[in-house]
Amino acid sequence: MATDRRHFLKLGLGGFLFPLVGCGRPVPVVEERMYVFGTMVDVAVVGSTDRVQAETAMRTVTARFRQMHDEWHAWKPGALTELNKAIARGERIKTDPSVLELIRGGTEVWRSSQGLFNPAIGALVGLWGFHADEMPVGELPALEQVESFRRRPPTMDDITIDGLEVSSANPLVQLDFGGYAKGVALDWALDALERAGCNNAIVNLGGNLAAMGRRGDRPWRIGVRHPQGDGVIAAVETRGREAVVTSGSYERYREWGGVRYPHIIDPRTGHPAQHVASVTVIDRDAARADAAATALVVAGMKQWPAVARSMGVREVMVIDDEGNVQLSAAMMDRARFVGAKPRSVRVAPGA
Ligand code: ADP
Ligand code: MG
Repeated sequence: MATDRRHFLKLGLGGFLFPLVGCGRPVPVVEERMYVFGTMVDVAVVGSTDRVQAETAMRTVTARFRQMHDEWHAWKPGALTELNKAIARGERIKTDPSVLELIRGGTEVWRSSQGLFNPAIGALVGLWGFHADEMPVGELPALEQVESFRRRPPTMDDITIDGLEVSSANPLVQLDFGGYAKGVALDWALDALERAGCNNAIVNLGGNLAAMGRRGDRPWRIGVRHPQGDGVIAAVETRGREAVVTSGSYERYREWGGVRYPHIIDPRTGHPAQHVASVTVIDRDAARADAAATALVVAGMKQWPAVARSMGVREVMVIDDEGNVQLSAAMMDRARFVGAKPRSVRVAPGA
């Protein structure tokens, strides 16, 4: 798939912000768009915030986003890839404090997700061909290689932090925070904007959004894409400060023998997770929402309510690969079904 096309798709997936202009009273806006984290990033500050102050805050945010991208990248040269190389050699290494923060936070969500969100399986993600800008084509990886990971499954428990130094008891551990780092970045961005006095803002990292305050006289309104079509399936209005994060198995995937193999790997089997097309999570904590959205794709249509509970996320919408929607009771209260009609909608037992 051509890069441009993928970028275009990426923009159209997950959630998106309904246009700032349109009906309603005009809202003074400072906006910035950039390409970082392999996706399109939009930051908007509205309301009566001082314009110069808002622009300065925005520059701080965009500069830090670029640093995060370099420090946390799972396969391009940077602090995390240095750490991964040391782990593979069985060595301990001093790493960046921001990487330590990711490891600590990532370990917490690994545990609460019952191991389904597992940032230690970077080597498996790479083995399936997803450590690349372009999606892999052709034959699947050799199953013996997948099996070698199952014999000694990498987990976050293998990692030891000592001061600024990190080591792993299992050389198969390779850290990949691709399912978590955007959430951490969203939390950081809203904190930074808030500190700068911008209290009405929204940040969109390729369909993962976090907002605070309001856009003029109404709440921020976020659309969730239909995973099987071009349209919107649902809209939610944010309350106070909240993230709306979507993970999908329909956007980055490879195909072989008529079967799709998405970029989210089930750590229990070593194979790509099947059957869930998308998961949307609303939570105050964007990092937790990001990890949860990824974990619930792995959990699947039966197990997701239990994993959502153990991760402490209440507002969840899961869509299967046939377009059937399951929600938690709390999400049912929040989501309005608009546009593309879902095949079926039901509140999942125990969710
Ligand atoms: P996106 O980044 O496309 O919004 P996700 O947040 O779901 O989607 O992140 C997917 C990425 O997470 C994969 O590309 C890979 O880097 C990583 N990943 C894949 N499987 C897992 C897993 N089981 N646990 C943690 N991270 C995973
Ligand atoms: Mg995620």
